[in-house]
Order: sequence, then structure tokens, then C-alpha cells
Amino acid sequence: MSIDRKDCETRDRNDPIAFARERFLLPDAVIYLDGNSLGALPKATIERLKHAVDDEWGKGLIRSWNQADWISLPRKLGARIAALLGAKPDEIVAADSTSVNLFKLLSAMVSHVSKVSPSRRVVLSEAGNFPTDLYIAQGILKAYGDRFELKLVDATEIEAALGPDVAVALLTQVDYRTGRLHDMAHVNKVAQRNGIPIIWDLSHSAGAVPIDLAGSGAQLAVGCGYKYLNGGPGAPAFLYVEGSLQSQLVSPLTGWFGHAAPFDFINEYEPAASIDRFQCGTPSVLAMQALDCGLQTFQGVAMADVRAKSLALSDLFWQLMENHCPDFGFSCVSPRNRSIRGSQLSFAHEQAYAVMQALIERGVIGDFRQPNLLRFGFTPLYTRYVDVWDAVMVLRDVMEQSAWQSTRFQQRNKVT
Ligand SMILES: *Cc1c(COP(=O)(O)O)cnc(C)c1O
Repeated sequence: MSIDRKDCETRDRNDPIAFARERFLLPDAVIYLDGNSLGALPKATIERLKHAVDDEWGKGLIRSWNQADWISLPRKLGARIAALLGAKPDEIVAADSTSVNLFKLLSAMVSHVSKVSPSRRVVLSEAGNFPTDLYIAQGILKAYGDRFELKLVDATEIEAALGPDVAVALLTQVDYRTGRLHDMAHVNKVAQRNGIPIIWDLSHSAGAVPIDLAGSGAQLAVGCGYKYLNGGPGAPAFLYVEGSLQSQLVSPLTGWFGHAAPFDFINEYEPAASIDRFQCGTPSVLAMQALDCGLQTFQGVAMADVRAKSLALSDLFWQLMENHCPDFGFSCVSPRNRSIRGSQLSFAHEQAYAVMQALIERGVIGDFRQPNLLRFGFTPLYTRYVDVWDAVMVLRDVMEQSAWQSTRFQQRNKVT
């Protein structure tokens, strides 16, 4: 049975989380399918930042650290993120970037394992993992000479590779290229049987798929604030350390904000007893406030509804591609199986870069990923079913008219 635009309108009318779209400022004539790379602007962020600049900074000046409670932002936001991800409020802190948080947790863990399990030599990760994850791991392990080996395996081989030689695993729950989703609870179970701690990177899953850190036995995680959490470009990231592990790990970045008593100004470093030990320096207050507004776009929204809509939007996109764009050389590299798929679809195409540029010029914004992928992210808080319909129709048009062949679509931008 073929679907038309009217069917999509009906689905939008029956969408239980349609109200959330009003929380965002989306430009007219744009269909935004890149919220997996940079979440859209929440309306509340504009007023909040204006207030933070004009009143808190402008008038309150340094008093605002106390009077506007700037000092508590990393923990307040951590508690909000914890509520979204099934952790306790004192197990997550908002801080730094994902890369820096990866460095802190992986360094702390490698140093810990070196002491308690000296025979474990392997740091396990996935081939094709997000570059920064692999680069950070390489940088850390360099300092240990040949004590550790970074071993990369395919997603399907992770379980088999979780053997007695593994010191720590660094896994990303949703693959940024294909959108493949790991069953975190299952992988944690296998790892725990073998005494292996896992650091989960939730950058492409936080705010996109339901996550239950406690229920799935996760011990350590990091994630991104500017993707599905809508915190704005370069938003603070977050890190999670399960409660009982906090006192055993020490951040390698022993800055004063991780000190037990930062305002005692004493000479010797002593880590805070709480998750605060994973803070480093002064938090970026304006960026924290923007992230706060991003997190509040989830208020009153059930993650089960987010997931159901995310899968329905993706299925719709896929089906419309099959119905309307079967002969243009696209092949979907994302899992068909819903249970192992995140909130995006990626299509391989010979001219992926040029096709995406032509789409963007016509207001359909996705992105390009090496070597040949058009990537479309579905953000259930603001993507509508009609957006999916319209996006595929524009894509069909671009292909029918060979619009992508124009030379201006061939030049690579710095950011793709
Ligand atoms: C987006 C993303 C990051 C981003 O790291 P930054 O430090 O914010 O640049 C890291 N890891 C994964 C898996 C990501 O998807």
C-alpha cells in the first residue's frame, strides 16, 4: 500500500509528542535532518542567555557564582541528564567536551586496571569508532609504552573479543556512520562475567534512544551535549561514573574544580569524594545555561514515545526511498532490524557529497560522512512525518533533474 502526504499529516495529528516541536525555533523552508550532529535551537535558550548575559553577568558580576548559583550548574545539569539516562543524580556531571571526558575516564580506568589486573593488556574498541574516541585512546596508551595494545574489532565481534586479556573496553552505543545500536545491557553482562569495565560513549544515543544506565549495569559513560540534547554548538558534554566506582578512580586532570575543597586554596591536591572529582576547571557558564534549556525540551516527553516515533520516522523514510527513489543508486547501510538501529539512516551513493550539497541548497539538511554516505538523523521532538515525506520528494527531484551535477556542489567544505 502506498503512502501519500495526507497519510503523513494524519500521523502528525496523532503524534503524542507533537507538542514538543513548539519548543524549538526552526527556520521556514528548512527540513532539518541533522539534529544528530547539532540539535536545533530551543526557543527558551534565547531568553535564558539574554538573562544570563544582561542580568547575571552584566549586573550580578562575580556575585552570580553564588546568587545565580552558577557554581552548581555542572551538578544540576548532571542530575537532569541522569534522570534522562536512568542514573542517580549524583552519578553524572556536565563538564568539558566528550573528548576530554573520554580522556579522563579512560586514563583513570587504565591506571586503575594497571594496578589491580596487571596481566590484562588489551584496550578493546570498535573498528570505525568515532575518530576522537580512537585518537584519545591512542594518546593515552602511548604514555604506557608497550604495556597496552589497542585492539579494534568489528561491531559483530565485540562479544567474542571480551576475553580475559581485556583491561577495558571503549564502545559507542550508536555508530555515527551506520546508526547501528548495541544492546548495552547484554554487552555489559558479557563484560562483567569477564571482569571487564566498559566505557560507553552515548553521543549518538543520549536523547535519541531510551537508556537505563543503572538497569543495564553500566559503570562508566560519556556523551555529547550538542546533538540530541540540543545544548548548542560546542555545548558541555557529560560523564557518568557509577556510585561505588567513584572513590576508586582519580581523574588525570587534577584541576581545582575536582578538589575536595577548591576554595580552601591549599597546595596539595585532594580529589573530591563525589563525582565532582571529575570536574577540572571553571565551567563554561553561558554554555551550561544553553545546555540546561536543551535538556528541558524533554520535559513531559516519555522516552518510549521518542523511540517509537524515531523508528516510525526512519521506517517511513526508508519506505519512501524504496517507493520513490529506487533507481538512483542509493543503498541503505543502516540495520533494517529496528532493535539494532539508532535514530538515523545512512545511504551509500557514488555522488553522496554532491547530492547532499544539492539537498542542503534546497533546504533539506542532512550531512555527508566519508567515504560515500548521506546521513539523515531523525529527532522526534521536532521532526514531523510530513518533513520525511517532503525530504524524500526533494531528493527525488534532485536526482531526476541531476541537480547535484553542478560544479558548485563538488567543492568540499571544511565541515561536512
Ligand atoms: C559527536 C561525538 C563526539 C564528539 O566529541 P567532541 O569532543 O565533542 O568533539 C565524540 N564521540 C562520539 C561517538 C560522537 O558521536
